Amino acid sequence: MGAWLRPCRIDHAMDRPTAVLSVDMEWFTHIPAYRNARGSVSDTDIGRAGVETLLDLFEDAGATSTFFVVAEIAQHHPDLLARVVECGHEIGSHTHSHVHLSEVSETERREELRTSRKTLEDATGASVTGFRAPSFDITPDHFETLEATGYEYDSSVVPCRSIPGWYGGEHTVQRPIPASHAVKGAPPSITELPVAVMPHLRLPLTGTWLRFFGVRYVLWGMRLLARRGIAPVLYVHPWELVDLPAVDGVPRRVYWRTGDWMQRAITKILDSRFAFVPARSLTETG
Ligand SMILES: [Zn+2]
Repeated sequence: MGAWLRPCRIDHAMDRPTAVLSVDMEWFTHIPAYRNARGSVSDTDIGRAGVETLLDLFEDAGATSTFFVVAEIAQHHPDLLARVVECGHEIGSHTHSHVHLSEVSETERREELRTSRKTLEDATGASVTGFRAPSFDITPDHFETLEATGYEYDSSVVPCRSIPGWYGGEHTVQRPIPASHAVKGAPPSITELPVAVMPHLRLPLTGTWLRFFGVRYVLWGMRLLARRGIAPVLYVHPWELVDLPAVDGVPRRVYWRTGDWMQRAITKILDSRFAFVPARSLTETG
């Protein structure tokens, strides 16, 4: 427990361009590729060590972040959530159980959003105003549901080109904007913080695409966005930073460059000249 009690240093140089390196805080067993696989594992918290690594890397870089947390984790690991908050990071919701929102009923969607926010607020004492949907899977009533369940901003839009078997092709918004400008009929009280995509190429700059295309691709895209006055919003999963167990039926792409490679990649991104801030701060300045 010793290392856990280290105080966290928070230090932003305001003359640097701003970026967000958010964390979708979920375990390996939450991801659809695992849930759809033939095999299984007995460990239920694969990725926990990745959270600890990320907290250390953020601290070393003087960076703060937003952790979009699958709220059921808070019930089993309250100490870990407390540590995230103590280090100055924002807590957002990544649903209660990591379901795909389009695959459940309207009532269940509302319950996932409402319960997760309450669970995370009760566990941390922090106010939870931001949301990210698992697999960026949202429904036409998404923004109304967010408003009805007490959220202020969303970061579930990926304005990339259409990628077969993935997502994309539906949105073009690149910078923080009222949701009503991104989706017809959405309430203007919700701000949308779209996830970064490479200008012109319009492929995602982050997540699996970091592991496919490498750190230079990400840093190049971040610089291009910054030149346009856009703060890049990136994301990482804690399970990407650990050595994953082989599970029958989980595709090879899930394992590609996880573990040490990803730890080095995140270190290099955090060492760039960007000032990394929580997502909520973009809604305040954007
Ligand atoms: Zn997720």
